[in-house]
Amino acid sequence: MSINAIDKIELGVFPTPLHKLTRLSAHLGGPQIYIKRDDLTGLALGGNKTRKLEYLLADALATGCDCVITAGAAQSNHCRQTAAGAAKLGLTCHLVLGGQAPDVANGNLLLDHLFAARIHWSGEKRKGEDIPALVKQLRAQGKKPYVVPYGGSNTIGALGFVHAYSELMMQCASFAQGLEFSDIVFASSSGATHCGLVLGKQINNGKSNIIGINIDKDEQGKDTYKSQLQRLIGRSASQFAIDYSGSIEDLHLVDDYIGQGYGVVGSLEREAIALCAQYEGILLDPVYTGRAMGGLIDMIRRKQFKADSNVLFWHTGGAPAIFAYADTLQ
Ligand SMILES: *Cc1c(COP(=O)(O)O)cnc(C)c1O
Repeated sequence: MSINAIDKIELGVFPTPLHKLTRLSAHLGGPQIYIKRDDLTGLALGGNKTRKLEYLLADALATGCDCVITAGAAQSNHCRQTAAGAAKLGLTCHLVLGGQAPDVANGNLLLDHLFAARIHWSGEKRKGEDIPALVKQLRAQGKKPYVVPYGGSNTIGALGFVHAYSELMMQCASFAQGLEFSDIVFASSSGATHCGLVLGKQINNGKSNIIGINIDKDEQGKDTYKSQLQRLIGRSASQFAIDYSGSIEDLHLVDDYIGQGYGVVGSLEREAIALCAQYEGILLDPVYTGRAMGGLIDMIRRKQFKADSNVLFWHTGGAPAIFAYADTLQ
């Protein structure tokens, strides 16, 4: 089926803004850095999951489901946006969250409560291992649950970012002298953002390098994130009849900035957050965009981009988590 055969339901406000980071670019003295503001998608403090959920929750409605289930970390931006989208559509939202209930819910978790999500704590697991049991339980109560995959990353979720690439091309064309990016840099973690951009580039004959900054360590004993990503791209290309033949070696996934692991803030993230705040008045988050921007800054300092090129940082959101990391950010 073609990418246009799948309906979406409007949850956000698009296109998101695209603009130059003038002061940060001058400070770093390398390429011109532009930013795509998916922190401003307009759903419940924004983020990249809005694009995926427009397709996923449309599918939930189309298949007659009356509740949704998804999983993530306690500070999951994906879970917060799913809870908000579900509230807007009148669907009950169940969240399976890693860890234990904290004494005080803060950041994304506080917002999950405001959207009246039903929260199920799952201890050590944050990637939805407990979902099958919950599905069974809800079905036994006569409910029709729709499972949104971890991070919203399956072929349907990826469609949001296939279309996002086209949105970017339209914006570039509307710049007076035209605008072309040598590279597009972003945080890559569950895969649909990366997958969608790779396939969107293919459809649009794009020229930019698609560079994902890996956020999370590979799980021991499981196959690598990169191979999962390659499979998601293969499945999406075949489902949407996209002529893509890239191999795993063609994927650009940078593993150099994982530091102490998922959600552990180090000096890389702290500096990136401070520079964006102080030079641009823009907030990054501690888990994803702080790390990805930290990687981009490091690559600029190492002169990995031509000084006369335009590089795009795709801001994928996450700001609510700042408040849950207050102790490590001051
Ligand atoms: C989920 C998320 C990402 C990663 O996107 P994936 O499509 O899961 O790879 C990046 N940044 C933020 C803020 C996120 O919430």
